Amino acid sequence: TTTLRLILGDQLNPLHSWFAGLRADVLYVLMEVRQETDYVHHHAQKIIAIFAAMRAMARQLEQGGHRVHYLRIDDPANLQSIPANIDALLAHYGASGFEYQEPDEYRLDAQLADYAARLPTPGSMAGSEHFLTARDEAGRIFAKRAQWLMEYFYRQMRLVHGVLVEPGGKPAGGQWNFDHDNRKPWRGTPPEPLDARAQHDHSALWESIKAAGVASFGRPDAARIVWPQDRAEALTHLDAFIQHGLPHFGDYQDAMHSTATRLFHSMLSFALNTKMLNPREVIAEAEDAWRVGHAPLHAVEGFIRQILGWREYVRGVYWANMPGYERHNVFGHDTPLPSWFWDGKTKMRCLGHAIGQSLDDAHAHHIQRLMIIGNFSLLAGLDPHQVHEWYLGVYVDAFEWVEMPNTIGMSQFADGGLLATKPYVSSAAYIDRMSDYCKGCHYDKKARLGQTACPFNALYWDFFERNAERLAGNQRLGMVYRNLFKMDDEARAACAEQAASLRARLEQL
Ligand code: FAD
Ligand code: SF4
Repeated sequence: TTTLRLILGDQLNPLHSWFAGLRADVLYVLMEVRQETDYVHHHAQKIIAIFAAMRAMARQLEQGGHRVHYLRIDDPANLQSIPANIDALLAHYGASGFEYQEPDEYRLDAQLADYAARLPTPGSMAGSEHFLTARDEAGRIFAKRAQWLMEYFYRQMRLVHGVLVEPGGKPAGGQWNFDHDNRKPWRGTPPEPLDARAQHDHSALWESIKAAGVASFGRPDAARIVWPQDRAEALTHLDAFIQHGLPHFGDYQDAMHSTATRLFHSMLSFALNTKMLNPREVIAEAEDAWRVGHAPLHAVEGFIRQILGWREYVRGVYWANMPGYERHNVFGHDTPLPSWFWDGKTKMRCLGHAIGQSLDDAHAHHIQRLMIIGNFSLLAGLDPHQVHEWYLGVYVDAFEWVEMPNTIGMSQFADGGLLATKPYVSSAAYIDRMSDYCKGCHYDKKARLGQTACPFNALYWDFFERNAERLAGNQRLGMVYRNLFKMDDEARAACAEQAASLRARLEQL
């Protein structure tokens, strides 16, 4: 009899061993469902890009001779939930087998495991053949260690996978980490590489998404979607990045600029997270670029660390802490997001740019996510769960396994320091050093007090003041606390007052 094999929207890897041979007894199933569009409020481009790529994958499989059943969002037969649709398709095709690939989100993993177990012939789960580590591998590596240090994990990965290591297990260039070389601001040169990504007109798809009643936010830009729809496009984009972006990736990794939204970032997260690209091939291409002398080691090491280190590590943190990680809130922050998270209309120029860009492009690069939007959210005491849902909805690359540890852990420190060794917060000085945002801002980057003082400044000192009991003993914050304790009582009280008044009028900032 027939076996149904479910392909989720983030499992678009045409090289998966499932597709190695043609099987008349296998029917591949892909479905666009409200269950997946509605679990959080999503950016329009994220919905369009994922559905478009799913449709392209289905076409490709059919052209390759595979049997495929594709359920569109507006198909009257679509029951809009995965189990209900599978039930209907099993009955329709008289099928008895059900297989699915390891889901990356806890939500889907639990749902499908439960569903598969309840079938008359229990369904089975195949590997996704994507990551370099198993779900529980980081958990095993850290089992006997008090702190989950990314750097420790990353070095293990370098050795185990032989990446940027010389014979004898020495790191290439004699150093494991070149982060210190990767902190330059960008002042206009070298020029940002041209955006050579293919554009697609998905207006018809967008109309059907809207007609189906799916709510969304952000600029749809449906006539000019730049997110790759298949592996071939993703590979072309990877090559362009290696050619033009990678050589400067390291230098400007932490830079931000109001006129250059991509800078030298790869924009590969969507292709990676939907599994069009495999992390091994991206890492190998980057390493080759260094070995042939095309890109410097500090750039290549910095880039590889993000994928071989951070990406695999946060996934391990996620699986070791689910369910429940989403509820962490050690600071007890409960302020709702100001409405300008949804329209970018704030007088703070840095946030206006970072949020505006997120709403326009469904993308912002790491330092914008961490040191502008996340930084402000933590300093202002926004509810970390709401912050998490905003990040999960807005970014085209946001899937819970990678978004949640980055937001709840790295950016909001809501897990109390399981993932990050200190809270990533700063005053205006850092933002001014790494960007051009402060020039022309309504607020005065130097001032701490008064109506036009940059909100980051008072909020920053007040954050450390309020949380001294929890944070003052942290070695990495020694300098911060020495400076805070040097301030006289009057200055500290004025800061607290200014911060309270800012928190009371977030909406007007
Ligand atoms: P590049 O800067 O070119 O980096 C290369 C690749 O490294 C990325 O494509 C990504 O796959 C990987 N990478 C880089 N940093 C991280 C990281 N911290 N964790 C995991 N992988 C990383 N990334 C997501 O893929 N999805 C998310 O939902 C997501 N949410 C985030 C939320 C917050 C609060 C923060 C601080 C970071 C988040 N990141 C997320 C990580 C990072 O910001 C994005 O991966 C990156 O901006 C994607 O753009 P890029 O492909 O141009 O990345
Ligand atoms: Fe942001 Fe403050 Fe700089 Fe304005 S002055 S851009 S609010 S850091």
